[in-house]
Amino acid sequence: MPPDFDVIVIGAGFAGMAIVNRLHENRFTVQGFETGSDVGGTWYWNRYPGARCDVPSMEYSYQFSEALQQDWEWTERYAAQPEILRYANHVADRFDLRKFFKFETPVQRAEYDDETAVWQLTASDGSITRARYLITAVGCLSAANTPDIPGLSSFAGQLVHTAHWPAEGVELSGKRVGVIGTGSSAIQAIPVIAEEAARLTVFQRNAAYSVPARNRPLAADEVQTIKRDYKGLRAYCETRPGAYAMEVNMQSALDVSAAERQRIFEERWQGGGIPFTGAFYDLTINMESNDAAMEFFRKKICGIVHDPETAAKLMPKHRFGVKRICVDTGYYDTYNRPNVQLVDLTEEPIDTITESGIRTSKTEYKLDTLVLATGFDALTGPLLRIDIRGAAGRQLREVWAHGAETYLGLGVAGFPNMFVVSGPGSPSVLSNMVHTIEQHVEWVIDCLKYLREHNIERIEAEEAPQQAWGEELIALSSMSVISKGNSWYTGANIPGKPRRFMVHTYYPAYVQRCTQVAAAGYAGFKLSQGAA
Ligand code: NAP
Repeated sequence: MPPDFDVIVIGAGFAGMAIVNRLHENRFTVQGFETGSDVGGTWYWNRYPGARCDVPSMEYSYQFSEALQQDWEWTERYAAQPEILRYANHVADRFDLRKFFKFETPVQRAEYDDETAVWQLTASDGSITRARYLITAVGCLSAANTPDIPGLSSFAGQLVHTAHWPAEGVELSGKRVGVIGTGSSAIQAIPVIAEEAARLTVFQRNAAYSVPARNRPLAADEVQTIKRDYKGLRAYCETRPGAYAMEVNMQSALDVSAAERQRIFEERWQGGGIPFTGAFYDLTINMESNDAAMEFFRKKICGIVHDPETAAKLMPKHRFGVKRICVDTGYYDTYNRPNVQLVDLTEEPIDTITESGIRTSKTEYKLDTLVLATGFDALTGPLLRIDIRGAAGRQLREVWAHGAETYLGLGVAGFPNMFVVSGPGSPSVLSNMVHTIEQHVEWVIDCLKYLREHNIERIEAEEAPQQAWGEELIALSSMSVISKGNSWYTGANIPGKPRRFMVHTYYPAYVQRCTQVAAAGYAGFKLSQGAA
């Protein structure tokens, strides 16, 4: 029996939308599945107050259509969630993409049949769909982490997670609100919640490094300058380590005088956003330079936060760069408000969540609303919550029991005809995701065309190149603190999750490698005419 479709795509976020569009343009039949009721992925789910991208809008957008990038008008330097979701909807309308998806239909199981070289997918509506190829576009930060805190289910007030913020909003005015977590999501939400809530109590385990976004409306002339040569900007991003146009100062922080170092840090702080991390090239690889960055933050926090005890609690203990830097609007200032209190969970851990609030080792905090800003089971979580079974019925969950292994972040040995967009082992979360998603999409489309032209039915990553790829990733990241810390990058935020750093840290080298592999007839993949 021939398969129902050439390709099944899981996910209707930025990756899923781009891939179904390009599949259709290239005459592949496709069926997509999406858990949400519409397109948007990350930007569909993360509707918490203050949610905003930390990559400039003009770069965090598709480049596959010149007309689209000329027509769409971003209003701010860093777009807020509603505007990004409007953009996703515009793209879905403009390219008529919704017809490829079944919405509100989570995928439960995907099984590869060795005999027919076909993927069979079972969805929540009981439907079974068969296709030659499976493409996962499930995102890297889409499996929300709800920690197992004692008593959580007994809380009688409203309980919300930033990653599943209700579309109808949450009534915060006049409420006593608690937020658990101080990562990027919390740091964006806290200043906005503080303005609405009667009282806000923030429960912090580890303090984060946060820089002001300095978000602002985009000026007409800067938009026009970019649009006159959008291709030029995209080409420049292609040469940058994270695929966005951030300038890295190629001086060491130790090569300059203390006064000059301070001036450069201050200039980046005033400029705002992630470019702070490029103040000096060696902030995450030279621990003396790292000390200087840590000291700069300590002084900044002391200067902004009036209460010395609160300021001391807000000072991060871990090294700069171990975790992703947060980007905020008024975060530290928020702790000067009379209605905001910071609870340091290292001094008074949570005993239990009660019906009416949170009881720590010291006292009970009464709450009407509890916000979990507790992050994600990153990179592997979104794939492993689906029961994916490859050749010989091997479960991805078992195969990755000791950590994820992929080849180029695109293929997995033992899982023929499966492609992972922005998978573990690709630049993904360390890059401008929309840009690098499109690089993956084009690579997969070229690969599928090659297989069609050469009448090849089966492609599978080989074990040895996959293992070598994993070793390359470790070697590439080993100099930086990023691969060593307790962060979601390494899986340390999820109890029991294997610790492995699975992100490629240098996009241009990654692209070069993908191009070489394709040019060599998909070196490192085994291609065959039919079933195993
Ligand atoms: P996150 O960075 O993992 O932060 C989760 C927070 O919850 C941390 O402060 C963590 O504390 C805390 N936490 C987790 N479990 C806890 C527990 N049992 N008890 C107390 N505290 C607990 O998650 P996120 O803030 O959602 O951000 C994840 C990533 O999404 C970001 O790094 C970024 O890549 C992306 N993101 C980007 C933006 C943006 O574009 N601006 C916005 C939001 C998210 P510990 O640090 O102690 O573990």
